[in-house]
Amino acid sequence: MIAPLALLVMVQVSTRWPQHSMDRPRPPVVQPAPHAGEASPPADAIVLFDGKDLAQWQAEDGSAAKWIVKDGYVEVNPGTGMLVSRRGFGDAQLHIEWATPTPPKGEGQERGNSGVFLMGIYELQVLDSYQNDTYPDGQAGAIYGQNPPLVNATRPPGQWQAYDIVFHRPHFKPDSSVERPARMTVFLNGVLIQDNFELSGPTAHQRRPPYSPHADKLPLKLQDHGNRLRYRNIWLRELEHTP
Ligand code: MG
Repeated sequence: MIAPLALLVMVQVSTRWPQHSMDRPRPPVVQPAPHAGEASPPADAIVLFDGKDLAQWQAEDGSAAKWIVKDGYVEVNPGTGMLVSRRGFGDAQLHIEWATPTPPKGEGQERGNSGVFLMGIYELQVLDSYQNDTYPDGQAGAIYGQNPPLVNATRPPGQWQAYDIVFHRPHFKPDSSVERPARMTVFLNGVLIQDNFELSGPTAHQRRPPYSPHADKLPLKLQDHGNRLRYRNIWLRELEHTP
């Protein structure tokens, strides 16, 4: 017998399409409004990157961050690994802007690939998905390997794009089973692309691992996938406060 919770988790990951299916219909293209400028952080936000330095960040091994800060943005330094926030976060509202390399190079997953890893585990895909086909559950705005975005609202390479994310962490019972799965709502360039999606577990390539219990707060990570992505204006509001 399948436990009620397992059913709950399974309904949101489509069972109609195998993971990474190329046969899956592509999300409709929606042209977003022109970039309206940077969204300044509200008063209660934790500013993780304001264009000046990586004081809030480190490398995966705890050494100094090795990505490159220049002209108000931070750029992936290929081969140096993920950029990891010094602080851990659970439930959060996150604003982060990104731009893929121009002129674009490579095809599919090799063009402008990075990722925003909530709690370092749950990837919201970052990719150059402007006139660049790939499997829908791996395009920009996908919960990687689990759910395509509702629409493709990407801008051309080189232009600034903004994710506004509402993330709710998973909750675990004392016996390590899942009490509540993680959920994500995402806007890309002001357009809703993930609507309170329930994650089936950690995101991964060619598999869907089950949840395994972890801390209530874990660092945010940005992916080094070998492409020189740029990020700027990163801020976060905690939605859950430890008493
Ligand atoms: Mg990625």
